[in-house]
Amino acid sequence: MRKILIVGAGQSGLQLALGLQAQGYEVTLMSNRTADEIRSGRVMSTQCMFHTALEHERDLQINFWESQAPKIEGLGVSVSGPESQRVIDWVGKLDGYAQSVDQRLKMAGWMETFAQRGGQLVIHGAAVSDLDYFARTYDLVLVSAGKGELVSMFGRDASRSPYSEPQRALAVSYVHGLGPRPEHPEFDAVRCNLVPGVGELFIMPTLTLSGRADILFWEGIPGGPLDVFQGVKDPAEHLSLTLELMEKYTPWEYARATKVELTDANGTLAGRYAPTVRNPIGRLPGGGRVLGVADVVVANDPITGQGSNSASKCAASYLASIVEHGDRPFDEEWMQATFDGYWETAQHVTKWTNAMLGVPPEHVLNLIGAAGQLQPVADRFANGFNDPADFENFFFDPDKTSAYLASVSGTTA
Ligand SMILES: Cc1cc2nc3c(=O)[nH]c(=O)nc-3n(C[C@H](O)[C@H](O)[C@H](O)COP(=O)(O)OP(=O)(O)OC[C@H]3O[C@@H](n4cnc5c(N)ncnc54)[C@H](O)[C@@H]3O)c2cc1C
Repeated sequence: MRKILIVGAGQSGLQLALGLQAQGYEVTLMSNRTADEIRSGRVMSTQCMFHTALEHERDLQINFWESQAPKIEGLGVSVSGPESQRVIDWVGKLDGYAQSVDQRLKMAGWMETFAQRGGQLVIHGAAVSDLDYFARTYDLVLVSAGKGELVSMFGRDASRSPYSEPQRALAVSYVHGLGPRPEHPEFDAVRCNLVPGVGELFIMPTLTLSGRADILFWEGIPGGPLDVFQGVKDPAEHLSLTLELMEKYTPWEYARATKVELTDANGTLAGRYAPTVRNPIGRLPGGGRVLGVADVVVANDPITGQGSNSASKCAASYLASIVEHGDRPFDEEWMQATFDGYWETAQHVTKWTNAMLGVPPEHVLNLIGAAGQLQPVADRFANGFNDPADFENFFFDPDKTSAYLASVSGTTA
């Protein structure tokens, strides 16, 4: 059977490893951390995944935490005004529920499953020189090492990467003790709070190591008032800063956060990165070729919560391309075609995410405002997180937005 090496045990690498293993491929998975190190390490994401991405996990029967993780049935948007009051506030219903399972739990569990099923698990931080050797001994080498150093092998695609600097400073806290949302507490929802000119606060339920929890996630415009987490080492200080900023900019969310405490000492994360699309083929000094996967090739800012979704979609798309290719060589032509197939979906995510990082144009503000009066608009916007390609139909082009709003409200534009 064909031998495949996967470097990096995150959402995409593990999903691909388990998928290929189930199809009888001889898979080696290289991870720079053991399952226990991942489980006892720092949180890595907020990892909210929507229906289509979850379906790919269900297809492989690796949705091990589905019954325990909170079912996120809605997505709410608030926009704050000059007095830190809510000038816009609505919640859209998702057609299929979303879920967030702490990657520490999921990746550690999947890694153990892969090994229990007979997979070859190698604990080693791969360097480019290692890959040079492995490209000769495996039929295919896939690099799914996220935003780590190995991305240097894949050239930046400037035509698809409008930003060369990080657009947000990220600060995450996993907490217990958050009160319910005052509106529609009967179902769980992601809360997106937009603070114009300052940044965004996202709140979502998750399943973590100690059970159900909530995540408080600030995205701050660099250099602005939320960009204060860099260098904060003490998790308690990180949480108090998070809460102070909530009290100031999103008091309606702070009101239910007065009793929160961190889930664990590793329940905070701060950082930033520039959204980047890369050339998918890594060319090694010895002549070998490797194919980049998910964040290695398309890393978007988490403002739209798409990275894990995209990693799942990329893994599913690559799995189909590998299986369909049978015994033929995994040459450059196949690698490019495989990435191009994934880009069909990923391009919409990148376009929409990069748009959300900028100052919203008037027609987008109108759209977000109209969702407060027109429930179908709120629902459609919320379901765009599952399928961002739909934004092409009503988000980017002012004429399409007004035609859509007119069709929903029953008036002419
Ligand atoms: C703050 C924050 C919030 C986010 N929120 C969301 C969200 O709500 N929804 C969503 O869909 N996405 C979200 N994302 C994005 C999402 O977490 C990532 O896009 C996703 O995890 C990418 O998956 P991946 O498989 O490409 O890489 P990763 O999950 O990063 O996995 C890469 C793995 O490779 C390992 N590795 C690195 N270098 C090497 C090496 N040299 N050798 C061996 N192993 C190596 C790493 O340790 C890691 O385990 C968020 C990201 C951040 C930072």
